Amino acid sequence: MKIIMLGAPGAGKGTQAKMIADKYKIPHISTGDIFRANMKNGTELGLKAKEYMDKGLLVPDELTVEILLDRVAQDDCKDGYVLDGFPRTIPQADVLDKELTKLGDKVDFAINVDVPDENIVRRMSGRRACLKCGATYHIEHIPPKKEGICDNCGSELVQREDDKPETVQNRLSVYHEQTQPLIDYYTNKQILKTVDGTKDMQEVFNDIVSILG
Ligand SMILES: [Zn+2]
Repeated sequence: MKIIMLGAPGAGKGTQAKMIADKYKIPHISTGDIFRANMKNGTELGLKAKEYMDKGLLVPDELTVEILLDRVAQDDCKDGYVLDGFPRTIPQADVLDKELTKLGDKVDFAINVDVPDENIVRRMSGRRACLKCGATYHIEHIPPKKEGICDNCGSELVQREDDKPETVQNRLSVYHEQTQPLIDYYTNKQILKTVDGTKDMQEVFNDIVSILG
């Protein structure tokens, strides 16, 4: 079973990807992780990718796909895998599709963990952090004992730049711009399955399991 995860930053798709991997005993493949592994091991592909990154350039889609295909060719992927963070663009989806077709293979499901932007902004903007000891809180879900004060060290809690509503909204806009075409792409291929990501984590997972079977 080959699965692609789609979902906005903060929608919880990484968590769902891990849960799928555990239940179906298939690897959870995050592109970030395989890039790091290739660079750490100094593989030929890793070195090529590093050349681009050292120059501050984006790694070209062809190379990203090559690194990905190299990973999914490994033994532990023979029963399938969950891709997390790939593809991000139509050219990447196209190259992946072409390469898999060459191998007589295809993606079975594209799971879209759908959460309205307002919910994501609310989730993220409730986060608070202690810059002194690194502890993190959430005003609704993990509140500190005393409002605005770190339980561990008594320092004042702050809202990180990344968690400010404007920043989150900007990231979401970029996400929608890139991802809407992918949603259309996988809808056309009739493998897109959308789940309601506003539900409780376990309920979302149950919905995914009922799709995957
Ligand atoms: Zn602290």
